[in-house]
Amino acid sequence: MLRSSRIITQKVTNRLSSRYLSTNSSLNFAIIGSGPSAFYTAKYLLDSSPECKLDIYERLPFPYGLVRYGVAPDHQEVKSVTSTFEQVLDHKDRVNFYGNVTIHDKEEENSSVNSLDFKELYEAYDGVVLAYGATSDHKLNLDKEDELEGILSARTFVNWYNGHPHYPELPFAFENVKNVVIVGQGNVAIDCARVLIKNEENLVSNSDISLPALQILKKDYPNLENITIIGRRGHGQASFTIKELRELTRLPEGQVLIPLDDIQKGLTEATKQEIQSSRPKKRITDLMETVAAVPLDESKKKFITIRFLLTPHELRPSESNPKRIGSLVVKKNQLVGLPNEQKAVETDEIEELPCDLLLTSIGYKSESISSLIPFHPRRSIVNNSEGRVLNEANEPVPALYVSGWLKRGPSGIIGTNINDAKETCSSILEDIRSGSLNSNKQDNLEKFKQKNASVFAHSLSYQDIQKLNQYELQKGEEFEPKRIRQKILSSEEMVKLAKEL
Ligand code: NAP
Repeated sequence: MLRSSRIITQKVTNRLSSRYLSTNSSLNFAIIGSGPSAFYTAKYLLDSSPECKLDIYERLPFPYGLVRYGVAPDHQEVKSVTSTFEQVLDHKDRVNFYGNVTIHDKEEENSSVNSLDFKELYEAYDGVVLAYGATSDHKLNLDKEDELEGILSARTFVNWYNGHPHYPELPFAFENVKNVVIVGQGNVAIDCARVLIKNEENLVSNSDISLPALQILKKDYPNLENITIIGRRGHGQASFTIKELRELTRLPEGQVLIPLDDIQKGLTEATKQEIQSSRPKKRITDLMETVAAVPLDESKKKFITIRFLLTPHELRPSESNPKRIGSLVVKKNQLVGLPNEQKAVETDEIEELPCDLLLTSIGYKSESISSLIPFHPRRSIVNNSEGRVLNEANEPVPALYVSGWLKRGPSGIIGTNINDAKETCSSILEDIRSGSLNSNKQDNLEKFKQKNASVFAHSLSYQDIQKLNQYELQKGEEFEPKRIRQKILSSEEMVKLAKEL
């Protein structure tokens, strides 16, 4: 990891010495998206090419993407990365932020005040970087998944509790939720379990969870008893990391349980080899075994049970409310395959888990914003090589680049975007040097901005964001008890406040 980081950094530094970069002409780039991958790409472009000017477009009024709306509200230390992103926006002579602007294939009849046509935008800039992440999710593909109340993707749940303007409400009542099942064993699943089990006092103080979410979750908090996090493979293949699991085991609000039997069933020869050859796996296995050895503490009122080798098989309605989910039937699995390639194979043995709320946490999914962007439908990413977008013949699409989850799929922590962005920048700088990007389209850009003047007039600038940020901090300060920030929850209100403040 470190070695590849050094290689990429060296590549970027080499580009700096190129002759092209010492000329005076400017190159205008559009970056679509304003999450971590967009800002790291912007940072390295600014650092390595003094000629680059950047316009960052965001469909929501407020920037920072997953950092604001994905990272758990009680993980404020992770959210502090926004100070790095603010340094990018502080380059006021080289960077514009345009919030509240959607980019898509714009039909004439579908010309909303805050949208731009992708093709027009692409033709107006010297280069375009796609960095808008993953705004959808994978499905279980079970009968009644879209019919029964009480089933939600973890992404939607996370967006809702983080105050995302597109998810203002839970689509069903949270009332009387006693048993929650979370499918999938990544860190998003752990985040959801932690937010659910933390009591009001611990969640209100050191978090920026949206106020309605806090009120709804904690009003019915006494009813919540069991959260079961299920994985289709074994403990050796769980995706969550030790820091997040350890944090869960230390919460005073409940007890984490791991059945020893589940661990033993997953201990195939291949799993033993996987654990032996990976120090992080060895450490997290030791922690899971320690947890599994602790007896049930009857004094606890709430439990998080982590179960392995179970695949969702059937969604059963509740007997008292047939519109709502009542249980999840799972099939028990066996692990088959070579080390690091083991797959879950279903057996005929089933188990029924009581379930009033089912969260599917089986991975985020990117979507295409334009039919002109070559999209890999199976992998749900933009076809690319080292950040250069490729057409169907695997040839680079001129001046079109991609970064982040849209480039590599929905994996990795925020820091993973550093090397990812460096790689994309390295490709861009190589193309600048080779002359393939040497097409100054200043006139096109001016015409594009004139033609869409009303969209730009309705957009939010960095200055607006700074005002909204101050407003949210002030509202948090005034709240009783004091909070880190009180988020503004609707796009309309943000736009309105940006004008008034
Ligand atoms: P993830 O880590 O990729 O986990 C997805 C889980 O879903 C895996 O357990 C996977 O099992 C399971 N899964 C996938 N398809 C399934 C199916 N059809 N049926 C049943 N299970 C299925 O994804 P994530 O939790 O959404 O997290 C995304 C990224 O963000 C990760 O890299 C994560 O580490 C990062 N993140 C980090 C933090 C943090 O650092 N605190 C917090 C949140 C997210 P298999 O392994 O069997 O496929």
